[in-house]
Amino acid sequence: MSGAAQTVLVVEDEASIASFVAAYLKNAGYQVRTTASGNDALKLVESEKPALVVLDLMLPDIDGVEVCKRIRQRGEMPVLMLTARDEDVDKIIGLEVGADDYMTKPFNPRELVARVRAILRRAAPGRADRESAVIQHGDLSVDAGRREAKVGDTEIQLAPKEFDLLWELLDHRGLVLTRDQLLERVWGYTFAGDTRTVDVHVRQLRRKLGDASPIVTVWGVGYKVGPAREPAA
Ligand code: CA
Repeated sequence: MSGAAQTVLVVEDEASIASFVAAYLKNAGYQVRTTASGNDALKLVESEKPALVVLDLMLPDIDGVEVCKRIRQRGEMPVLMLTARDEDVDKIIGLEVGADDYMTKPFNPRELVARVRAILRRAAPGRADRESAVIQHGDLSVDAGRREAKVGDTEIQLAPKEFDLLWELLDHRGLVLTRDQLLERVWGYTFAGDTRTVDVHVRQLRRKLGDASPIVTVWGVGYKVGPAREPAA
């Protein structure tokens, strides 16, 4: 990370969760502010202008959904929502509430840090740019705004979930994503679903992308994106 540390605001009324999340984020180089209250969170968003808000859904005063909506009305600050297992995640990350990402409790704090990093990388320098982000990886280029994938100059027709899966893997280059994580993030499942869906889509992506496919199987774990090959001469 270059320059001054970015500030992450952690809004969580369970003190034990707030303190371990704060500890992991500090350890990763972020400045951290914590609060247990939705009202305080909205004040801190104004005064501290954090780079990102980690926001628990169930708070004692204003709930996380309302806090997230109000943050959204004010600007483009990214929000990572913490939820319980049975909550309606499609709604939380949908347009109505507008969180950038979510994690279901209990979660791995290392994964939370990885997602905070990924969101901040995507968010910089603004949501508009994020929507038109292009990831180039060897011969492969993927344009999030146009939802286009190309190998060299050739456009590859991908089904929506194939596109989302490819983007998710490319956006987490260097990280292994488990089948369950991919199910949650691409399909929105909040439970351990039928992970064969993921395998089937990976197979389709490999077939369509051929030699340009960057997807590596990590046996027994999941998938990741391998190093970019040299573009064809
Ligand atoms: Ca709570």
